[in-house]
Amino acid sequence: RVKAMGKNGFQFYDPEMQSSAQERLLIEKGLYQALDKKEFQLWFQPQVQADGAIVGAEVLLRWMHPEKGVISPASFIQIAEESGQIVEMGQWVLTESFEQLAQWKAQGLPASFKRLAINISPLQFMQVDFVGRFLTMLTDYKIPGELIELEITENMLLNNFEIASNKMRILKQRGISFAIDDFGTGYSSLRYLRYLPLDILKIDRSFVTNLRPSSEEAAIVEVIIATADRLGLTVIAEGVETEEERDTLLELGCLCFQGFFYARPMPATPFYERLQQDMDIMA
Ligand code: C2E
Ligand code: MG
Ligand code: MG
Ligand code: MG
Repeated sequence: RVKAMGKNGFQFYDPEMQSSAQERLLIEKGLYQALDKKEFQLWFQPQVQADGAIVGAEVLLRWMHPEKGVISPASFIQIAEESGQIVEMGQWVLTESFEQLAQWKAQGLPASFKRLAINISPLQFMQVDFVGRFLTMLTDYKIPGELIELEITENMLLNNFEIASNKMRILKQRGISFAIDDFGTGYSSLRYLRYLPLDILKIDRSFVTNLRPSSEEAAIVEVIIATADRLGLTVIAEGVETEEERDTLLELGCLCFQGFFYARPMPATPFYERLQQDMDIMA
């Protein structure tokens, strides 16, 4: 949530802001304890190609709150980013993801499974030791870089274009691929697509919801896909909820999908069971 600031940086009193500030503080406090109390979990959402095979998964953080139940990151990532807590949380997400992936690799992954996609916050990516720590972990867990995709957002690139693209280039030399997340929603510039070493473009859910052939949204999606094709980027559509949305996307040339139509995000065990079903079909 963006704070409303006056011209000279003063915040004006507003009872609603007051309560949201209190709520914010509670979340911030809760987040400190959540790491210690091991209340975070990684969930996984399949990414599926046209024939239904799972080609990857996105790692999505969940806060298993003792009273409130499962809390979506939508309600705490922004706060954690602003308080700086995201750095430690993000490091935890990376460690857990690597551990999980190493285990699945040992147990067996279907041939169709290409990558695990991990969301990286701007503050996390901009830490001076991010690349060094990341590469050390890759070696420690014996994970081939090709199995990892990092999702970054357009807004991250806004102020740090040079530094971000340099870091991306170093990581890409180790096989890591990069996806631009929520494409089309940020302060986007098509220029980023040309100058950044990206591999994947994720079309934001807002373009996918209620997508129908010949609609204005379809025209936008068509342009995004054509641009991505020309630049050699793979397209993934996010938030695919209905058959009609999927069919329209297919018609527009999109070949990879993520959304409730296929599967909701789920804990590691049921996710691996889904992967095993894929392996059984192919065996
Ligand atoms: P995102 O990276 O764009 O992730 C996709 C979000 O869309 C997820 O929300 C997912 O549950 C949701 N989603 C997937 N398919 C559908 C669908 O068909 N319909 C609808 N309505 N929603 C769908 P989630 O898990 O609540 O995460 C929200 C955001 O929080 C993510 O958006 C991402 O930006 C951030 N996030 C999640 N995990 C992490 C993490 O480990 N680190 C960082 N830095 N950010 C994270
Ligand atoms: Mg994402
Ligand atoms: Mg996204
Ligand atoms: Mg999104």
